[in-house]
Amino acid sequence: MEIVFLGTGGSFPSPQRGVSSIAVKVNGDVVLFDCGEGTQRQLMLSPLSFMHITKIFITHFHGDHYLGLPGLLQTMALNGRTKDLEVFGPKGTEKLVTILEQISYYSRTYDLVLHELKDGQTEHFEGFSVTAHRLDHALPTLGYMLREDDRTGKFDTNAAKLLEIPEGPLWGKLQAGETIVWNDRGITPEMVMGPARPGRSVFVAMDTKPMMGLPEIIKGIDVLIHEATADHSLEEKANKFGHSTAMQAATIAKEAAVRRLYMIHISPRYRDVEPLIKEARSTFAESYIPDDLEAYKVPYPEVSDAELKKQEDAAKEAAARESLQRKIIEKTEMGEDVGSLVAELERAVAQVPAATAQAAPAGATASPFGPPPPPVPTPQKTKPTAPPATAARPAKAARAGKGAAPKAATADGGSDEEEDEIDLDRALAEAGIDLDAEDE
Ligand SMILES: [Zn+2]
Ligand SMILES: [Zn+2]
Repeated sequence: MEIVFLGTGGSFPSPQRGVSSIAVKVNGDVVLFDCGEGTQRQLMLSPLSFMHITKIFITHFHGDHYLGLPGLLQTMALNGRTKDLEVFGPKGTEKLVTILEQISYYSRTYDLVLHELKDGQTEHFEGFSVTAHRLDHALPTLGYMLREDDRTGKFDTNAAKLLEIPEGPLWGKLQAGETIVWNDRGITPEMVMGPARPGRSVFVAMDTKPMMGLPEIIKGIDVLIHEATADHSLEEKANKFGHSTAMQAATIAKEAAVRRLYMIHISPRYRDVEPLIKEARSTFAESYIPDDLEAYKVPYPEVSDAELKKQEDAAKEAAARESLQRKIIEKTEMGEDVGSLVAELERAVAQVPAATAQAAPAGATASPFGPPPPPVPTPQKTKPTAPPATAARPAKAARAGKGAAPKAATADGGSDEEEDEIDLDRALAEAGIDLDAEDE
């Protein structure tokens, strides 16, 4: 499960932040929460395809949360979408979305299915569910709890061996939930499978003032995405207009003992959000404000904090190595001396433990949009002068000028999304750099 923060600002767009929209990639679906103005362009700058969106949940009908909808619906039609699109929201959704459709001429190529949800209503989908919860804002507003279905327990190989079940197809049948007969005895999956493991859970709360009873609803979830329109000094004003402060969002996160808080719907008045982060962290340490287009791969609950920290550190180290690689390739192309950089890279590569060398490590708040894969120049052993003729096509984000952050997290501890790994050896070889050469 991966969250991509498309728009993290509140009220109106600013040069720093677009307005509300969050995409969650879950079980092959892309689910959108809110679709503020400019969302479709943010989608194009992200690694997600807007054509893969299957469901859109609107929190409420203030303009900063849904005015991107008509444009997105039309672009989907222009791209020949045929798959149904479901839009969910509070009371009024059917009327408002229908009106939005009527304000311009276009031919829809797909079915738009509108649903109005009530407080407490759960919609079940393949592999996950979404439950609507009423929030406390100036208009009828829904928060949404997205929960993955429980996963099957782990197969206990020792238990299977004790029962003398031979490794092979019979193990597979038990893992698939079938009862088998072995040694004239019925063996049920429960005899060899551990308990079901919980899936991951995310709650989206915007817009709302601090909501009574919310901590009980979201107790122990993995990620709380809560609005934090203002700072503590503006609490009275924020609450009067149905909004929360960073401190209040953090207090809810703490009371609910969630694993991580992401604060969004940041007022355009804040160019520097560090004071808001500091304010929240004084109450709840795991508080963050994402930049637009930042992403977070939600780890499974059983991945320990220590393991997460290890993965984050590994991600930082990997990013540093990638940066060195890029420098080496760039300097090589310019015909400059790269001896000291190569030595530095050698040292960095030597420090990578064997176990993490191959696995793309996690970086909890890393953006998936950078860095771009190292360019793959035409091998030029001697006097490279011209730019490479076959440079790799830059990643989407690089084209968008968003290339400096480390690679996306893979803190899942799961297997739902395989990361593209940058092949250090190949990139170096193609740049004509042989790390072993000096030893020979
Ligand atoms: Zn808003
Ligand atoms: Zn609002």
